[in-house]
Amino acid sequence: MRESYNVFVCESVLKEIREHAKPSPTEVGGVLLGDLYEDVGNIEVLGTVRAKHAISKEFKITFTAATWRGIKKEKRDKFPDKDILGWYHSHVGKDAQSGFTFADLDFHQKMFNKDWQVAIVYNAAKDDFTLFKWKAGRIVGDVILLQRGYATENK
Ligand SMILES: [Zn+2]
Repeated sequence: MRESYNVFVCESVLKEIREHAKPSPTEVGGVLLGDLYEDVGNIEVLGTVRAKHAISKEFKITFTAATWRGIKKEKRDKFPDKDILGWYHSHVGKDAQSGFTFADLDFHQKMFNKDWQVAIVYNAAKDDFTLFKWKAGRIVGDVILLQRGYATENK
């Protein structure tokens, strides 16, 4: 087990998340697809699948059984050889926070508990992205920087 993975997020992924989230008054979400390089400790996030039939509220999003069925089907069609590297969702409203809520933490610990799995929170009010990943068994968050078409962690 690694202490942590290096995470690269393709800029188009951030664009997809923003386009999904911007028009919605409630939280939206989905999963992050890409490649896992366990030998070198890198993950590359290359695409997204939107969560449909999710229960979307102002302060919470819940993935239902129908959501997971939809995600699995779309992944088979669009990204058959990619891994589910994590999930994303938006925080909305003028007082939106960029951090994980307790519900986000709980969901991440239950569903995305592999040491290479990550989450992106898009704060629609501030237009910023925060990446959450496992580091020595804990979840840490950091603002994403854009570099050469890839978004990397703020180091
Ligand atoms: Zn949240």
